[in-house]
Amino acid sequence: MSVAEVVVDVPTMQTNRPFEYEIPEQLADVVVPGMRVEVSFGRGKRKIQGFVMKIKDTSNFSGKLKPIDRVIDLRPVLTPEMLDLSYWLADQTYSFQISCLQTMLPSVMRAKYKQFVEAVPEFVDDAEVKSLLGDGESLEITSQMTDETIQLINRLRRQNKIEINYVVENQARQLKRQAVTTNLNPIQLREKRNSLRSNAKAQLKLVNYLIDNVDHLPIEMSELENDQDIGRSAIKTAEKNGILEIIEVTKRRKPVGITPEKTTKLALTDEQQQAVDQIVTAIDQSNPETFLIEGVTGSGKTEVYLQSIEQALNQGRSALMLVPEISLTPQMVNRVTGRFCNKVAVLHSGLSSGERYDEWTRIENGSVKVVVGARSAVFAPLKNIGLIIIDEEHEASYKQDDNPRYHARDVALWRAKQHKCPVVLGSATPSLESRARAQKGVYHLIYMKKRVNDHPLPHVQIIDMRDAENSAAKGDISPLLQDNLYRAVKRGEQAIVLLNRRGYSSFMMCRECGFTLKCPNCDVSLTYHKDLSKMKCHYCGHEEPVPTVCPNCKSKKIGFYGTGTQNIERQLNELLPQARVLRMDVDTTRRKGAHAKIIKAFGDHKADILLGTQMIAKGLDFPDVTLVGVINADTTLSISDYRASERTFQLLTQVSGRAGRADKEGHVIIQTFNPDHYAIKDAAVQDYETFYKQEMYLRHQSNYTPYYFTTLVSVAHKDEGQALKQSYWLKRQLQAALSDHSILLGPSPTMISRKQNKYYYQIIVKYKNEPQLHQKLLDILNDTQADTKKGFTIAIDNEPQHID
Ligand code: ADP
Ligand code: ZN
Ligand code: ZN
Repeated sequence: MSVAEVVVDVPTMQTNRPFEYEIPEQLADVVVPGMRVEVSFGRGKRKIQGFVMKIKDTSNFSGKLKPIDRVIDLRPVLTPEMLDLSYWLADQTYSFQISCLQTMLPSVMRAKYKQFVEAVPEFVDDAEVKSLLGDGESLEITSQMTDETIQLINRLRRQNKIEINYVVENQARQLKRQAVTTNLNPIQLREKRNSLRSNAKAQLKLVNYLIDNVDHLPIEMSELENDQDIGRSAIKTAEKNGILEIIEVTKRRKPVGITPEKTTKLALTDEQQQAVDQIVTAIDQSNPETFLIEGVTGSGKTEVYLQSIEQALNQGRSALMLVPEISLTPQMVNRVTGRFCNKVAVLHSGLSSGERYDEWTRIENGSVKVVVGARSAVFAPLKNIGLIIIDEEHEASYKQDDNPRYHARDVALWRAKQHKCPVVLGSATPSLESRARAQKGVYHLIYMKKRVNDHPLPHVQIIDMRDAENSAAKGDISPLLQDNLYRAVKRGEQAIVLLNRRGYSSFMMCRECGFTLKCPNCDVSLTYHKDLSKMKCHYCGHEEPVPTVCPNCKSKKIGFYGTGTQNIERQLNELLPQARVLRMDVDTTRRKGAHAKIIKAFGDHKADILLGTQMIAKGLDFPDVTLVGVINADTTLSISDYRASERTFQLLTQVSGRAGRADKEGHVIIQTFNPDHYAIKDAAVQDYETFYKQEMYLRHQSNYTPYYFTTLVSVAHKDEGQALKQSYWLKRQLQAALSDHSILLGPSPTMISRKQNKYYYQIIVKYKNEPQLHQKLLDILNDTQADTKKGFTIAIDNEPQHID
């Protein structure tokens, strides 16, 4: 008898213990680890999903095992490596294995989809393949199929005679498209053209198009209609006249974006060469070492990544590169795809499930060797990885803030050990944790202190906005910034203006009594939405009309507070009517591909000033940008998080690095109410090391990361008393497991203590060495399963990115 260990998906009774199921005779060859199966669970007849983790010959269970009812996948959806990883990940992140397994799946397999069997081209005429597919090209796999059919499918698949493909239900029909091609050569096409009547305008246009593009056929009909304005009737007429043929093509879904130019490798600077040499040595020696490249903005880190990847590929290995957020870093992605072309798969949230699935398949079957993606790309099913790169390693987005709360860096380090390959972390402003680890010799530190071609760092000026002369009477743009913007635009150069915002845009405040309009369900200010002309809550979606008088004191002096980008845009237009301003914020980037479009437009000089929020601070490389202005540099300083200084320093350093990247000198103007703050002063001179020392000192004083480990435990309940009571109980549990050397803070309400009508309390554990704690937290996780039913939500966040 064969027995499968299955991790089941039972929302109300999660556990990390696998359950054993019998593999029925007829599925003996079919079931393999990494597949999803349907099983019954508990006393009832309920059918649930599970992942097969292991297969073994005997069971430890004395009773009779239930059988596996049905296989959901006909091929494994997770590799053995990912199955292994799920044990470790669940343990590290205090989450359930099932949620780790689900997180690793490409999204198409979490959505509704259909599975189809298709013949591998060479085997279309194979007798068995034909007996399976009949006359059709493909066969849908359904739960009604007989076991014999399933077995046949499985055997043919193992012989590589057929493929199994997934198609998201609502995209299935998009797969086949009509396209136009021709059997005629250009000479024959010209003859056809000459025989056309001169008033047959549409036909002439179509034939001319075919002559010019004969090498690029077939072309989709929709493309002819949309881009060339050649209609369906013209195409039909041409078909009748024997000029072209209409065929069906399978559309290869391809991510949208700018098509990159092919790039070739640059001659490295000494610093770059030294970095590449060290990384390549580690690749050659299969040494899972971690490098931290601390390189000033413009020092050419990307070229180091690219040439190191190339070396990994030369050795027949693959490479994984993580970036904070694909849509914000199109230039970086283009540089990678421009170098390695069709060997690259790009994974990001902007892709539809179908596109994601296509990329995932290309990775899995080995047709791509380089994967670029955001956080979740760290689970890409690459084989034989030779190098993992994490660019801008300090970014908070590498940590998932939902279950499982994993950090991509930790997963990368785990995978590097399996694949025996180095990891490269790169940043101009490394996280304190990583820099401290390098200090201790856990990571290998590589400095890149010079900009490429010895371009000087930009000249940075700090403007004290407390000073009456600087604070513009009417607005947010100081006279000095205005003057410099004016001169840059006049010289035909470009400028970037960053508005540092805390996240939410304008909210309503009464200037008479200080009242702010808040959500009735959550303790947050409602945000003004101009397009809807409504006040809206970003947490629960509650909306209400915009008030005209203060609900508290009836004053009419209620108005918008907090500077939004639209407001700054208006000020720029007033002060600099001749300048063309392009705005990039949540409002202008809602649509898919909008980021890339704005960035391209700015790169093409369709605007003089790029105005935006935090999203313009990173990774942009425009040679003509000579001026960067920062408005409200302080906003991120005032958040109640111990990383506030670190975040501010990172932001200011990154955005300053956008100026003067090419031949022209760069100039940065930072407007602030805290000109003496070390985070601002150190950022002005791009002095990471001085900042690092000062910040380490303060972290030491207040017992924070990286001197202490931090774990955050939070409890939520609809009833505030219940939430508080449960959090005190939790605190006692933790106290019992901890030594006197650790610090236990709370329970305290979170900064926004009520979200969607639930009250949140948190406990912070700070510790150096607590051998009992890990197990205790796992116990708490398991014990609280029963509490979920009583309406409690408990979250354990290991090394939180922010505490609020
Ligand atoms: P970083 O990522 O460190 O901020 P980049 O990799 O974006 O820096 O490099 C800055 C600029 O210098 C880019 O325009 C890049 O094309 C150019 N560059 C990098 N390396 C070289 C080199 N070896 N020779 C010439 N130009 C280079
Ligand atoms: Zn009022
Ligand atoms: Zn709300």
